[in-house]
Amino acid sequence: MQFKFKFKFKFKFKFKFKFSLTWYKAFHFEYYGRGEVLEYYPPPAVCSTGSGEHPLPAVLRVPQYTADVQDLCSRVACTRRNVMVRDGFCCQYCGSRRDLTIDHVHPASKGGKETWDNLVTACMRCNQKKSDRSLAQLGWKLKRKPKEPTPFEIGIVAGIATSDILRPPPEWEAYIAPYRERLETYRQAAVEAGLLNLIDDD
Ligand SMILES: [Zn+2]
Repeated sequence: MQFKFKFKFKFKFKFKFKFSLTWYKAFHFEYYGRGEVLEYYPPPAVCSTGSGEHPLPAVLRVPQYTADVQDLCSRVACTRRNVMVRDGFCCQYCGSRRDLTIDHVHPASKGGKETWDNLVTACMRCNQKKSDRSLAQLGWKLKRKPKEPTPFEIGIVAGIATSDILRPPPEWEAYIAPYRERLETYRQAAVEAGLLNLIDDD
């Protein structure tokens, strides 16, 4: 059944919203007894197993930080999209939210790497002005020291991009409620910067 694939699942860890992932991963956690299902989607949202049809988990609590959970949640890929998400869609030199690009703090031409601590969001103007000079040469400072973001920060925006979190299924409502304000802040920033399409990209 094609429509099953549009369902997403909410991962809950230590009573905090943590992550969303596909329903089959959620089912995996339940099937192997590694998570407690708090909510199911109503029929006809079911998956077929060898022993018949099974309701799809909507919200799952995982009591232990298992290797599987760690794999899913501990690292965030260092992509253009994720760097902007981490920086709140905000130029790390002047604070602008327009014409955003990615800048190598230590210039790529001088061996600067594509790593979390060397990539920042920069507006076109700052990026051009900076060119291949160092911050010390320019007397510039970064708004925040760049580092690897948490999966929570990235997961929220990924959810916004697919509308899962801003228009959640009713089964998610109670669990998302405490994060509404924060989600809205991220959404506003993404809309202002015209970056929702970019978020969908990679
Ligand atoms: Zn700027």
